[in-house]
Amino acid sequence: MIKYALLCDQDHAFDAWFSDSDAYEMQVERGLVECPHCGSTDIRKALMAPAVRTARQVEARDAKADLQKIAAQVRSHIRDNYDYVGEDFAREARAMHEGDKPERLIYGETSAADSEALQDEGVPVMPLPDALAPTPPKKLN
Ligand SMILES: [Zn+2]
Repeated sequence: MIKYALLCDQDHAFDAWFSDSDAYEMQVERGLVECPHCGSTDIRKALMAPAVRTARQVEARDAKADLQKIAAQVRSHIRDNYDYVGEDFAREARAMHEGDKPERLIYGETSAADSEALQDEGVPVMPLPDALAPTPPKKLN
């Protein structure tokens, strides 16, 4: 099967499937291909321009690929170097800040309210954008 982008004599664009190019020629010659918009059987193939990628598009694509790569690196860096503390995040962060526990790198979940409270208390916490958040390891406990 082959799909052609077609135009009628009114320049209506539509697509149609044919078993091969000969079938296309034959069906158009016999008036079997109708424009779905106006019913015209004066059909021709639409000229296709090659899909040229501009430098800007290439750049945008490269930047996106770069960001995805970097995000993946950040995620695995966090997973490898930070301790996942799950729901205990606020308590752990606070304990470290108060000096009740040795400093270490942690990540976990906390409510928006807790996160705000921590920041008010001067505990350095940062919300991780989804793209940078590693999949937490299997639930603790
Ligand atoms: Zn038409």
